[in-house]
Amino acid sequence: MLKTRITEMFGIERPIVQGGLMWIARAELTSAVANAGGIGFMTALSFPDADALRTEIRKCREMTEKPFGVNLTFLPTLRPPDYPAYINVCIEEGVKFIETAGRNPEPYMEQIKSAGIKVVHKCTSVRHAIKAEKIGCDVVSIDGFEAAGHPGEDDVTSLILIPLTRDAIDLPIIASGGFADGRGLVGALGLGADGMNMGTRFVATKEAPVHDNVKQALVDHGERDTRLIMRTLRNTERVLHNNAVDKVLEIESKGDTKIEDIVPYVSGLVGQEMLEDGDMEKGVLSAGQCMGFIRDIPTCRELLDRIMAEAEQIINEKFAQAVTQPITN
Ligand code: NAD
Repeated sequence: MLKTRITEMFGIERPIVQGGLMWIARAELTSAVANAGGIGFMTALSFPDADALRTEIRKCREMTEKPFGVNLTFLPTLRPPDYPAYINVCIEEGVKFIETAGRNPEPYMEQIKSAGIKVVHKCTSVRHAIKAEKIGCDVVSIDGFEAAGHPGEDDVTSLILIPLTRDAIDLPIIASGGFADGRGLVGALGLGADGMNMGTRFVATKEAPVHDNVKQALVDHGERDTRLIMRTLRNTERVLHNNAVDKVLEIESKGDTKIEDIVPYVSGLVGQEMLEDGDMEKGVLSAGQCMGFIRDIPTCRELLDRIMAEAEQIINEKFAQAVTQPITN
């Protein structure tokens, strides 16, 4: 057992978080993470409208009695989402935790906080973590450069970002970006975080509702198999290297790129098809450098049991043995 400010705040047994995963963080995965002792966030934008999110929240409640939350990402989109409607559904359905990600959630803070919902803000820089604390967020999830998806534009790795964030704010911190095993959990705690977030690692689990080819691709590829796309649009995304990604990078290398030029490859709807039909060359798939650590496709319970056993062994054995008594004469 590891008791931290994160386990206390969420009322969970293990300081492990499954953050938003576009199209993937649905009831099957989020409830499996909850039942394994962590906390998962269902991704609101995966659902076409607020009522579809409501249905999914109810489905998740039938699959677990444990706490879970909802992710709301504020980044550029091709189809503008009705954020207040998604938030209303969270309030009406008694959701206790919302993970905001991307841009500043301030415009929605009053709506969320007045309902007593706790806000985890996922961001990619110390200055944004400070801002999140100032506007009343309850937790900061800090995403290092290793991370899948949108790691920001500063390119600061978790090893630097987590301790600097710890120095800058008092809120509980979730370490994100590059974490996939028990060593990472101990490292995250050592760097000053109160828990760790995993994204890519949770996609390669039995319960993740995606085609087996997607899970196998995460097993088969390593830490060198990601690329950064949309850098030229200042909306950088770390994705699994494939033919579609090469095409996007080729278009971007010509300069003066517009989102319309790359939509056939980066559109979320194409990505959704890829997750369903397993055609791994069709579009782009967010994936982190932690693919290097992913060697199997366990259940969420098996994964979290293993991570906790590994973390506790490092703390109880390796650390305990390494700390020696001072020599006294
Ligand atoms: P989408 O189909 O609306 O857009 C596809 C990609 O193009 C996204 O990465 C998006 O950020 C980017 N994009 C769209 N318009 C842009 C513009 N004008 N300038 C620069 N980039 C632009 O995306 P989607 O797959 O339906 O996802 C919806 C939202 O969720 C997007 O903002 C996406 O970035 C975000 N997202 C969330 C998660 C998560 O885990 N919550 C993961 C990945 C992406």
